[in-house]
Amino acid sequence: MSVFENPAFDDHERVLFCRDPDVGLEAIIAIHSTALGPAAGGTRQWSYANSEEALYDVLRLSQGMSYKNAMAGLNFGGGKAVIVKGPGFAPTEALYERFGEFVDSLNGDYITAEDVGMTPEIMQSIARRTDYVTGLPATDGKAGGDPSPKTAYGIFCGIEAAASFRLDKEDLEGLRVAVQGVGNVGYHLCRLLNEAGASLVVADIDNEKVERAVREFGASAVPLDEILFADVDVVAPCALGAVLDADSIPRLEAGIVAGGANNQLAAPEDGKRLADAGVLYAPDYVINGGGIINVACEYYGDVDDEGVTELVARIGPRLTKIFDEARETGLPTNEIADAQARRLIEAGR
Ligand code: NAD
Repeated sequence: MSVFENPAFDDHERVLFCRDPDVGLEAIIAIHSTALGPAAGGTRQWSYANSEEALYDVLRLSQGMSYKNAMAGLNFGGGKAVIVKGPGFAPTEALYERFGEFVDSLNGDYITAEDVGMTPEIMQSIARRTDYVTGLPATDGKAGGDPSPKTAYGIFCGIEAAASFRLDKEDLEGLRVAVQGVGNVGYHLCRLLNEAGASLVVADIDNEKVERAVREFGASAVPLDEILFADVDVVAPCALGAVLDADSIPRLEAGIVAGGANNQLAAPEDGKRLADAGVLYAPDYVINGGGIINVACEYYGDVDDEGVTELVARIGPRLTKIFDEARETGLPTNEIADAQARRLIEAGR
């Protein structure tokens, strides 16, 4: 499929291919839309089978950021970057600084942040060459730093909204939640759920992370291939994308899917599959918007950490509105969210 025919191209405003053999950098920056503000979205550092796969990944993620930022109520458009970990890749200061120069060459139309494979320390290297960077270590109660605790808080608020809507539960005491992936987001989500009295089932390819959740939160560990199908109230995918498909959806025991992973649906029609199976799905880019809200507050510098928490809490009512509309119209929640996001972006044009 050529680039223009790929649904993820979706009329991207700009795509910048960045290469510097002197430092071994190969990266792509995609700007999907600046209709609502500068395009904001993290940089992912990842090994791809080929450059085509990297291109499609960055386009898909960048388009997703337009929707996520619009639904989070931010003055941000959507963009994303990937740094390709090819053979002989060496994560040097020089490489990240050079990447910072490419970001800077876009004059603020793209603002970067952390995504998979990045750390606040790497963001500091990038920041030596550009001001258009967030996710830097936070100081004195200001917004900033690792966004994953705020992402987890948004998911927690989303689970509260879903449990109230579907189960008529006004608190999470005794709620049974399966968390797939207890990395940055999953760990903080488990902490919040445990504090609220929920019981946890977890799985992760990294045994140490599983053991930490068992030790700290009394979670039960289950095998990797069982976590999605555990006998629980809520499944929270917090690891990989594309975990919900024609094969997995009929096997779900939970009535609610509400987790932090990006692109949980293997294909858009899996949203309908979930609805037809009677599963309430919290659209991923709505429920996991807490991190980007944190990033926006850091970038604009107008809200402190407490203010960020208040903004993130609005994810709960935002989801309830989507659930209500789904009940009224019979449409799947992902389609409702997509339509709302497109309306917001269109209104900004
Ligand atoms: P992370 O790498 O810290 O955690 C992911 C965890 O999933 C790791 O512990 C990893 O070992 C585990 N994992 C990988 N494959 C697995 C498998 N097959 N089964 C079970 N566990 C598996 O990443 P993160 O920052 O916690 O992000 C998790 C997800 O949330 C990603 O999809 C990410 O794109 C999304 N997300 C993250 C943020 C954020 O603020 N970090 C914001 C929005 C969305």
